[in-house]
Amino acid sequence: MFIKDKFIKKNKVISLEIFPPNNNMTLKQILDVIDELSIFRPDYISVTYGASGNANNNYTVDIAEYIKEKYTIEAMPHLTCIGSNKEKINEILKLMIKKNLKNVLALRGDLPKDILSDSTNGTDYSYASDLIGHIRGSELPISVAAACYPEGHIEASSLNADIKNLKIKVDRGVDFLITQLFFDNNRFYDFKDKIVKNNINTPITIGIMPVTNVKQIRRIIALSGASIPLKLKTLLDQYENDNKGMFQAGIDYACQQMDDLNHLDVNGFHLYVMNKPEIARMIYKNMNW
Ligand code: FAD
Repeated sequence: MFIKDKFIKKNKVISLEIFPPNNNMTLKQILDVIDELSIFRPDYISVTYGASGNANNNYTVDIAEYIKEKYTIEAMPHLTCIGSNKEKINEILKLMIKKNLKNVLALRGDLPKDILSDSTNGTDYSYASDLIGHIRGSELPISVAAACYPEGHIEASSLNADIKNLKIKVDRGVDFLITQLFFDNNRFYDFKDKIVKNNINTPITIGIMPVTNVKQIRRIIALSGASIPLKLKTLLDQYENDNKGMFQAGIDYACQQMDDLNHLDVNGFHLYVMNKPEIARMIYKNMNW
């Protein structure tokens, strides 16, 4: 099923994001994670994809297929294009179709240090919008999602400049957007105002990352540039050396964030569960989903 159709049928589309095996998690452990997540019957599960050339990328499509086949839960592989070429991308898209996967999150990916965002350097793509245009041009039956950044992408000169680029991306044929994590809802409300003024009316599902580990979140904040409201800063300081306390406080904070966002007519929530079923379990329980 195309995930875009779920946005028409449902008041709120709830999705979970997982990542493939890495140095800390084996494939067997990931499959166990999926087994536990399947109990919640999310509307779909998305599976991340690394930078071009990452050996673990081979798992992304296979894991998505596993989710869909074994649990009949819709699955969406992510796909990054920087450093790649049309031949490789076509190969992956065709594999997705063969495996009955009908949705993809089309991304540029973070720039490797040796690649400039410049189409003259051997990669066929400079921006996610190039990949989206390519997928649309292929006429393959794939629904396309893309990322958006309520506080502006870290490389963008301003939020307004980023929104202008987002508009290009959306106009190439995006069916729905997923936001980067944010912790200050006011940033999202401002963003929403701005995108509507720029005639971006695509459904947006809100990426929520519960803060369950202080060290990890400090790294993520540094990478994403997310702003930290005083209330969250106080929690981070308070639970710096108390993982259990931070876990509970982080879940509570995420649920309060979603309760507040629920007042606005949001299309869905996308939980960055970091391959921890316990995060999903506590959120589903607290939110009464
Ligand atoms: P783009 O939309 O191409 O934007 C990148 C930058 O270029 C922005 O600053 C934008 O303003 C600018 N730009 C865009 N178009 C133009 C233009 N025409 N002219 C000038 N400037 C332009 N990364 C992974 O490696 N794997 C994943 O699985 C993954 N999953 C993600 C899931 C979500 C929900 C999100 C929010 C991010 C994810 N990322 C992932 C991170 C993402 O790859 C990075 O944030 C990356 O730096 C940007 O990707 P993008 O698709 O948003 O890029």
